[in-house]
Formats: sequence, C-alpha cells, structure tokens
Amino acid sequence: MTFLCDFDGTVATRDIGAALLARFGRPAWRLWDVLAHRGALPLRVAQDLQWRGVRASIQELRAEAFRVGRVRPGFEEFLAKTAADGHRIIVVSSGFSFYIDAVLGPLRSRVELIANDLLPAVKGFRIAWAPLRYACASHRPCKVAVLRKLPGSTVLVGDGVSDTCGLRSSATIFAVEGSFLARLASAQRRPFTAFTDFRAVV
Ligand SMILES: [Zn+2]
Repeated sequence: MTFLCDFDGTVATRDIGAALLARFGRPAWRLWDVLAHRGALPLRVAQDLQWRGVRASIQELRAEAFRVGRVRPGFEEFLAKTAADGHRIIVVSSGFSFYIDAVLGPLRSRVELIANDLLPAVKGFRIAWAPLRYACASHRPCKVAVLRKLPGSTVLVGDGVSDTCGLRSSATIFAVEGSFLARLASAQRRPFTAFTDFRAVV
C-alpha cells in the first residue's frame, strides 16, 4: 500500500508556504489564495502569481520555515509503523522542497518526495515545477496524477485545496480535522476519516 501525504497543514501542522507569503509576499497573495480556494483560479496559476511577488533570499525563506515549522504529532511513529509493515510513503506537495527539507530535518530521508522548488528570478522567484506527468488542470503535482501511476491501493492524507482531486478518486482519505478538505468531503458526502495525530492514520 502507498500513503500519499500532503505537506503544508498535514505533515507540517501549519501551511509553511502561506506563512512565508504572509511575511515576505505582496499583500495580494491572499486574494490569489481566496480565488484558488473558490475554484476561480487554478492553484498553480495562483502560486505563480504569489511567488513572483516575494522579496527575500532563499536563505531567509529557509530560516523562517525552520523557525515556524512543526511536524505533526505522531508522524515519526507513523513512519516507523508503515515502514515495518512494508508500505511506501510519498510526500506529494504543491509547496517547495527547500522548506520541506528544512522542516522535516532527519525525517526527510525516510520519505519519498514529489514537490516543486523555487528558483530566484529577476524579480521574486519562479517556480521549478514537478514533472508534467504529475499535473492536472489545477495542481502540479496532483496527488491523483501520482496515484494513477502507482500499483495497488492508495491512502491519501491531506487537508487543503491541493488535495481536492482525491475526493473523486478511489483512494482511502484521511483529512485533518476541521480542514478545508474535511469540510468539502462532508459537503459532498464523500467518506473520509478525520484525524489530528498521525498515529490515527495507520
Ligand atoms: Zn488535481
């Protein structure tokens, strides 16, 4: 079995990308965020606009991510249990490798990662996107595009707008309690399990 885990707000207790945009981005980042949540703008278009406006070095962003990032309780135990049972763990994130590495620290070597990265541009940053084969119309990478390339059954663990395609897939869904994904799944009467501690996922 494969566990596809979202990062921001799921493996990490808060949305690190949003925290960085709140500190270093232009105020308009919130507008792009609202439009992406309403489905009025593909998430990846919103991200492109948001990160163009960031004024900081990658070192400053990494240091801030390390300062504010916390791994969700139970994640280390979850990794130990799933590894012992022979399962595969892939963190699939619309966020960026540089801050996922910073927040996970030594746990990083215990997961596979499919994510984007940030490259400095003349103004702000441009996004070095994950491979196109993992994209859908809204997300890059999209967890369902990844799921379709995997053998066997899949568990999707998430919280937000980057996880919504999963609701239309055959995956077993775990959604962070009270999250956007949990509310959307409830509204669509899509079965899922709510959780706050990763030990509840295995
Ligand atoms: Zn998608």
